[in-house]
Parts: sequence; structure tokens; C-alpha cells
Amino acid sequence: MIPALLSNYAPADLSFEKGEGPYLYGNDGRRYLDFAAGIAVSALGHAHPQLVAALTEQASKVWHVSNLFRIPGQEKLAQRLVDATFADAVYFCNSGAEANECGIKMVRKYFSEKGEPEKYRIIGFEDSFHGRTLATIAAAGQSKLLAGFGPVVEGFDHVPVGDIELVKAAITEATAAILIEPVMGEGGIRVVEPEFLRALRKLCDDRGLLLMLDEIQTGMGRTGKLFAYEHSGIVPDILTSAKALGGGFPVGACLAVEKVAKAMTVGSHGSTYGGNPLAMAVAGAVVDVMMEEGFLDHVVEMGNHLKQGLMGVIDRHPDIFEELRGIGLHLGLKCKIENTIVFNKLIEHGALTAKGGDNVVRLLPPLIIEDAQISEFISILDAACTELENG
Ligand code: PLP
Repeated sequence: MIPALLSNYAPADLSFEKGEGPYLYGNDGRRYLDFAAGIAVSALGHAHPQLVAALTEQASKVWHVSNLFRIPGQEKLAQRLVDATFADAVYFCNSGAEANECGIKMVRKYFSEKGEPEKYRIIGFEDSFHGRTLATIAAAGQSKLLAGFGPVVEGFDHVPVGDIELVKAAITEATAAILIEPVMGEGGIRVVEPEFLRALRKLCDDRGLLLMLDEIQTGMGRTGKLFAYEHSGIVPDILTSAKALGGGFPVGACLAVEKVAKAMTVGSHGSTYGGNPLAMAVAGAVVDVMMEEGFLDHVVEMGNHLKQGLMGVIDRHPDIFEELRGIGLHLGLKCKIENTIVFNKLIEHGALTAKGGDNVVRLLPPLIIEDAQISEFISILDAACTELENG
């Protein structure tokens, strides 16, 4: 007999009954400091009063009507995202992978509407991650994601991140766009140099290509800006968001400039649930909180404090960690021992983190953390490391 639940995950043997701010309360009766935030999703912590109010208020009105009808919450949130970013229009969906699917379709549709359907290929980067649908695993190109799911969706080429000459060399007559995460999150919090992003923007401008940024993990305040592209001074043509946009309610968004958005004509794309009233109520409340004066400054400040603390931990435990990576509260510690060992030891000591590629432990606390929780986390990390050193 196999378990009734599909065995595609290997979760830690721990579940939670309650959450409050940056803490989760386990079924084992213990309190955990949550520096995983549901993999960069619960950006406002757990049971944030404004999100609870928005959800419960909407729940007593109307949950779902489908996109057969106007959804005022969508129009309002789209306008707010347009006002706050490079974008001219927004499409709402339910997850990150779906947002990327929309972005990929937008790239193809844009060139098709221009009368150049032969331009459809997208250049992506090695070790990137864009979701688990057939097109998004092809977009990432990693063999561990593709194994067993062939044939691979056509239309993606891959180069290592950081070398603009290799990107230039990969461009052909069929190239339509470049797709990149400003920080490769699942890949181990590898920050893409702003100069490289600027070089990609210039290349796209020079060669008539679209630049698509996957900000599903980096977006919505995680790096101290609403979106990480703001650190580099460039703007994309297409940007995808999800995760923190809903603060834990499943929602995704694909943002685009006018020339691209106009290609998505009536009937060209859609989703039954995408942007339903419940999702829009919660995402609207997330944006309300994040747009409050000082919210992003707080992320920057806490990010700096956490970084300082973590540098001290690396100094005190040079046999466990070799490097700190990241921006704002999107941080990763590259481990010298197996990251799973550190991850498990931290759970024993009452802190939750997320594993990442390249043997990294990711630290993705809720953006509302305070100095007290940073100190608490550093103490837990020190204690866990000391125990690991003493074997
Ligand atoms: N893109 C990036 C950069 C991500 O980090 C993720 C999820 O980890 C995704 C896409 C996929 O998002 P989802 O799991 O909501 O489909």
C-alpha cells in the first residue's frame, strides 16, 4: 500500500497549529522562529491582523465569480501595481509557475502579433528556477527538473549567468527574449550583478528582444525594494510576481509594458480562479501594508542587522559556513557541511529555514521581523553550530 498522499515531497516530520507574526506553534507543543516564511511567501508573518480582516471581510461577501464578470479588486490592484512599477498592465493568476507561463506566452504572442512568429526562443540561465509546469521546467533547463518529463517543451536556450558575451553568442534569428531571476533563489541566493542586468537590458534594446524578469521570490519587498530590478536602475518588459504578493493566499501576477500587454487580446489567455475576489482582497491588503511609509526602509534596516549578525556567526564557525549571500532579507549561508544537517539542527533548536541549491541554507524571515527576533535567531544559530562542532 502506498500513502494516500502523493509522495512527491519529503517534508520534515512537523506540522503547525497556529502562527503569530514571525512564530509558528508546532504540533509538538514547541514555538518555532520562522525564517522560512513558507519559502518567501508569508512576508507579513502569520495571522497579520490586516490580512485576517481583509480575508474574513471578503469571505462573508463573495468568494468567486470567475472572469466572466468584472472584479473590482483586480482593477484596483492592477492600477496600484502599475502606479508602483514600470508596468502598464497586469494579469492575475494563482501561482508563480502560472505567472511565468503567462510571461512566456506573452513573449510569443508579442512577436506573433508583430508578424514575426519565427521569433519565439527565450534565453534563460543555468541553475535558474521558474516553476514546475512543462514550459517552466524547460525555461529553467535543469536536468534534475526535466528528468522523466520529456519531450522537453521547445524554445529555450541556456547560458551561464554573468557573461554577456555568451548571451550574445546564444542569440539567433529565432531569439525573442531573455528570462532571468535578479537573484537566483532556489539556485542558492546567487545575486546577479546589476551591471549584468544592465548589459542584458542594453542587449535587448539593441537586438529588439524582450527582457523578462522572474521576481516571484525576490519581489514584494524581499530585497528592500518593492521589486529587485529597482536596485539596478533598469526596467524589464515583463515581470512575474507571486509568493509574497498574497502573503500566503495563492496568487500570482504577470506585469507587462503596453506594447507587450496589447498583444494579449480577448480570449488569448485566462484562468478560472485567477484574481478572484478573495485573492484580490488579501493581495490588496498586502500591498496596503507594504506601501506604508517606512515599510521597505524597515526591510533594509533589518536586512543589514541580520547580515551583521550572520557575518559574526561565519567568523565564529568557520568550519560550518563559508559565505553569506543576498540582499535585504533574501539571504543565504553557503555551508561547508551538508546544508540538510544545518537545516535539521536548526529545527531541533527551534528555528525554521529553507534549503537552497549550491549547498545553501536560505534565510527568508517575514519582512516584519524586529531586532529581537534577529538576536534570537543568531543565538539559535550559534548554539546549533556549537552543537554540530562538538559532534
Ligand atoms: N520562480 C521562482 C524564482 C521561484 O522561486 C518559484 C518558486 O519557488 C517559482 C517561480 C514557482 O512558483 P510556484 O511554486 O508558486 O509555482
